[in-house]
Amino acid sequence: MLFKAPRGTADILPDEQAYWRYIEEKAVAVCKLYGYQRMDTPTFEDAGLFARSVGEGTDIVNKEMYVFKDRSDNELALQPEGTASICRAYLEHGMDNLPQPVKLYYFADIFRYERPQAGRYRQHHQFGCEAIGEASPMLDAEVIQMALWFFKSLGLTQFTLQLNSIGCKQCRPDYLLKLAEYYTPLTPSLCEDCRTRIVKNPLRLLDCKKPGCQAAAEEAPRSSDHLCEGCHDHFEALKIYLEALGIVYGVNHRLVRGLDYYTRTVFEFQPLEGGSQSALGGGGRYDDLITELGGKQTPAIGFATGMERIVLNLKNQGIEVPGQVKPAVFMACMGNSAKIEALKTASDLREAGIPVIVAAGDRSLKAQLRQANSLGAIYAVIIGDDEINEGMVTLRNMGTSEQQVVEPEELKTILGAQE
Ligand code: AMP
Repeated sequence: MLFKAPRGTADILPDEQAYWRYIEEKAVAVCKLYGYQRMDTPTFEDAGLFARSVGEGTDIVNKEMYVFKDRSDNELALQPEGTASICRAYLEHGMDNLPQPVKLYYFADIFRYERPQAGRYRQHHQFGCEAIGEASPMLDAEVIQMALWFFKSLGLTQFTLQLNSIGCKQCRPDYLLKLAEYYTPLTPSLCEDCRTRIVKNPLRLLDCKKPGCQAAAEEAPRSSDHLCEGCHDHFEALKIYLEALGIVYGVNHRLVRGLDYYTRTVFEFQPLEGGSQSALGGGGRYDDLITELGGKQTPAIGFATGMERIVLNLKNQGIEVPGQVKPAVFMACMGNSAKIEALKTASDLREAGIPVIVAAGDRSLKAQLRQANSLGAIYAVIIGDDEINEGMVTLRNMGTSEQQVVEPEELKTILGAQE
């Protein structure tokens, strides 16, 4: 029996890597432009961290988290999102003593036991950024602009920005009561999940994807109509800033996102094609999360995007990414002395920064040159008995098949100049 990658996971093969390096490069560039610093956190954390932050009543914690006990009986979880770990680390390392806001970014492997489908995996990869320690809606506008900047720098255009405010702990409880009141008489028409949501997590009633529930959600009370003064002013200011920056958005009253820690601003980038479950990225404010984790009141906002979704959208929109660098030189050799000479010559060339692939094994010269061709090598350096006897090497231009016999020392100059 041959082993296969676990369901919902994917290998990223060499041919795909160019997309990933392209995305990472653009992400790092945008973080530099906006003053974000990289942070890496462990792949697994105390499971309680996610229950406390993402929320006990969420699908992510209840149904999708990979939880396990280690040999010392610690209950751990593979991270189902990136924000909680960053906040845990922010507190653990006393970053609340630094000038605020602290701006951090990460690349993380994310694990959710979901039903796999196109663009939906059980292990996926996120690029995310968090700005911790500032309440101003200016920061919301800047984070949203940064996310847009990132997508545009990749060449992506076919998506919309959706925005909502889900209030705070002052105004949300009343709103949730109104939601529950509205939904209770509709219970028979709701899906099974939504029936429990009325009690456990009424906000999530709004983004259920089942047709019956969607119709009910359309007419449901809107969070933006039930904001307290502070949340209302914050939302209005954010809209003014976005408009001033020329950022086009739509208010989506059903946008709530699947994590409990969000307050006030939530936003999502939706591709024009692909349906509501294929978000390119999203984020929002989480002004109470740091307190929830034991810190002092510290407002914050973040954004995350799925790398697999970006690759999918780059391909769908026909965006070409810079290809992988082809090896400059293929080293072909025949005979035992030639093998030694090939290894030594290759080392000299690499010292000079010239990429080399050395033929291995005992294939014929013809077979070795075929390999050089399929690798896309620009030159082949050929060393056989004649070359060894004369202390020379043969340099073959793989494009034109022209050959010249040169001193090994000359290679660096000739090939270095071609680079
Ligand atoms: P979330 O943490 O749910 O806000 O997700 C942030 C982003 O990660 C989403 O907008 C998607 O781009 C991506 N994403 C979320 N879940 C998955 C998944 N199961 N597979 C692939 N990408 C995902």
